[in-house]
Amino acid sequence: MTKWFDTNYHFIVPELGPSTKFSYASHKAVSEYKEAKVLGIDTAPVLIGPVSYLLLSKPAKGVEKSFSLLSLLGSILPIYKEVVIELKAAGASWIQFDEPTLVKDLDAHELAAFASAYAELELALSGLNVLIETYFADIPAESYKTLTSLSGVTAYGFDLIRGAKTLDLIRSSFPSGKYLFAGVVDGRNIWADDLAASLSTLQSLEAVAGKDKLVVSTSCSLMHTAVDLVNEAKLDDEIKSWLAFAAQKVVEVNALAKALAGQKDEAYFAANVAALASRKSSPRVTNEEVQKVVAALKGSDHRRATNVSARLDAQQKKLNLAVLPTTTIGSFPQTMELRRVRREYKAKKISEEEYVSAIKEEISKVVKIQEELDIDVLVHGEPERNDMVEYFGEQLSGFAFTDNGWVQSYGSRCVKPPIIYGDVGRPNPMTVFWSKMAQSMTSRPMKGMLTGPATILNWSFVRNDQPRFETCYQIALAIKKEVEDLEAAGIQVIQIDEAALREGLPLRKSEHAFYLDWAVHSFRITNCGVQDTTQIHTHMCYSNFNDIIHSIIDMDADVITIENSRSDEKLLSVFHEGVKYGAGIGPGVYDIHSPRIPTTEEIADRINKMLAVLDTNILWVNPDCGLKTRKYTEVKPALTNMVSATKLIRTQL
Ligand code: GLN
Ligand code: ZN
Repeated sequence: MTKWFDTNYHFIVPELGPSTKFSYASHKAVSEYKEAKVLGIDTAPVLIGPVSYLLLSKPAKGVEKSFSLLSLLGSILPIYKEVVIELKAAGASWIQFDEPTLVKDLDAHELAAFASAYAELELALSGLNVLIETYFADIPAESYKTLTSLSGVTAYGFDLIRGAKTLDLIRSSFPSGKYLFAGVVDGRNIWADDLAASLSTLQSLEAVAGKDKLVVSTSCSLMHTAVDLVNEAKLDDEIKSWLAFAAQKVVEVNALAKALAGQKDEAYFAANVAALASRKSSPRVTNEEVQKVVAALKGSDHRRATNVSARLDAQQKKLNLAVLPTTTIGSFPQTMELRRVRREYKAKKISEEEYVSAIKEEISKVVKIQEELDIDVLVHGEPERNDMVEYFGEQLSGFAFTDNGWVQSYGSRCVKPPIIYGDVGRPNPMTVFWSKMAQSMTSRPMKGMLTGPATILNWSFVRNDQPRFETCYQIALAIKKEVEDLEAAGIQVIQIDEAALREGLPLRKSEHAFYLDWAVHSFRITNCGVQDTTQIHTHMCYSNFNDIIHSIIDMDADVITIENSRSDEKLLSVFHEGVKYGAGIGPGVYDIHSPRIPTTEEIADRINKMLAVLDTNILWVNPDCGLKTRKYTEVKPALTNMVSATKLIRTQL
C-alpha cells in the first residue's frame, strides 16, 4: 500500500513482471455507469490512464532489474480498449482518463509512452469525448507539449490551484478545437473559493479555448476533502462561512459556470465577497505578536551551539544510560476503558478530578510495567491523547475541529484533519502537567512527548492565505515554548515526532530542497534553545530516506528512531557510509504493525546485524513505532523479549 501522490489516500501498488497477463476482470466502471444512467444521470466514467497505471506500479520481487514497467503497455492497452468499447456501447459520451503522473518529473521515454498509448487507443476512442485529467501540481512544459498533442483526445484538465505556472502554459498555447477543463476550485482544501478571482481567470481562459470549449471544474477529485458542511454542528457560523466542503464546492463550480454563461447569481457572489472579507479582517485570524516573532525567526539559522557528539557526552554524564539503551516510541495500548474515560470527560460526564485520577492511574501502570521490564528511558504512554495532531491542535490557537470532516484514507478508514485558520499560538503549556507527573513516579528518565511542526502541518487542512512555511514556523514557535517549559520542569529527554515530514515532499524534485529547508529549520527552531544536557529525540514512521538523509542529519536531533523492522539493513548503511552521523539512532527492532510477538533470538539477530554497520555507542533499541494499536498481551511479551535480547548482546560486547 502506498500513498496516492501527496494525499493521505492509500492504494495497493500493482506488482508487475514481464510475464504479467492482464485480463478484463471487473466491469465495475461499466456497471456503475449504467446504474447512474438508469437513475437519469449521465456520468463521465473515470479510469486511471494506462501510462499512469504502469508508472505507479512496481516490478514484482525477483523481477530482473532491466525490466521496464512501460514494456507492458502493449499488453494492457487491449484491455483498455475492451472497457472503452463496452462503455461506448452502454451509451457513454464522455470518458475521463486520469494521468496525474504527468505532473511528475518524466523522461523522454516515459513521455513517449503517452503518445504511443493514446495513438493506439485512438480507434477505440473514436466517437467519444476523451478527457485527460492531470492534478496536484504544475505540469512541466515538456509534458504539457506531449499532453496537448495526444491523438484521439478532445479535452485536457488541469489543476489551476497548484498549477500557477500551468496557467501560463495554457495562455501561451492551447490546441484549437479542444476542451479546457479549468480546475479553479480547490479540490484538496476546505476553503470557500474566491469566486471573483476564479471568474476572472475563467474569463481570461475563454479567450484562449473559446467560449464553448471552457469547462469549469475542481482542481482534482473531491475525495481528498471533507464531504459536507451541513454535518457540522460545532463549528461556529463565522468560521463556517469561510469554508466549502465537497458539497459546497460543487455549488461553487455551478455558480461559476452560470456566471460565465451570463447568469450570475449576484446574491451568491456578494455573500462570497462578504465571507472572504470577514476571513481577511477577523481578529481570530491574526495574532500580531506571533507574526512579529516569526518574521524575526525566518532570516537566521537556528542551531544548537554545540555539536551532537559533545552534546551526547554531556547528556550521558547526566543520564548515565547503559550501552544500547532501550526505549519505546511513546504510546502504550489504548484500551476501551481509556477511550471511555476520555469520551466521558469530553462530554462532561465525569469531573476533571475523576479524569485526572484515571489518567494518573494509567500512567503509573505504564511506568510500573516499564520499570519491571527494565527499560532505560521511559514514556508515559500518551493515555490522554486521542491523536498525535488533534491533541496539540486542540490546545493551540488558530485551530478548528470538525465533527464530521472525514477524508478517506483507505477502505473504511478515514482521517479527520484539523483546520488551521489563524496564526498559531500556544496560550498554555500542553503536556507539562502529565510529563511532570510521570517523571515524579520514577527515577529513570521520562521522555517528554511532542508532535513536530511539519507533522502537525502535513496532517491538517492548512490556511491558503499565507505560504505553508509561514504556518509551519508558527507551529514551530509554539512547540519551542513547550520544549522549553518541559525542560524547565525537569524533563531531560524530549521526543519531537516528525512522523509525516517526508509526506510533505513536493511532487517535483526541483521543489524538494526548498521544502526540506523550511521543514527541517522548523524542527531545529523547536529545540535550538535547550541546554546541551537535554536530549532531543525525533521519531519518523518510515525507512526510505536515502534521498533525504542530509536533511535528516540537518535536523540535528540527538537521537532518531525510525521504522526499520520491515525493511532490510540497507537503510542503515546510508547512515554508515556517505555521511558520518554522530547522533544516536534507533532503527525499530520489531514491527508493531503486526500482532506477532518477536522472539528474543530474532531481535538479538537484528541488533547484531545493526551492530555490523553502526557503532555500538550510538545504537538504541526500540520498537519501530508507538504501541497504541496493540494489546497488552502482545506488548508485554514483545518488550520482554526486546530487553532480554539487548541484555544478551550487552554481555557479548
Ligand atoms: N509518539 C507517537 C506514538 O507513539 C508516535 C506515533 C507515530 O509515529 N505515528 O504513538
Ligand atoms: Zn511511527
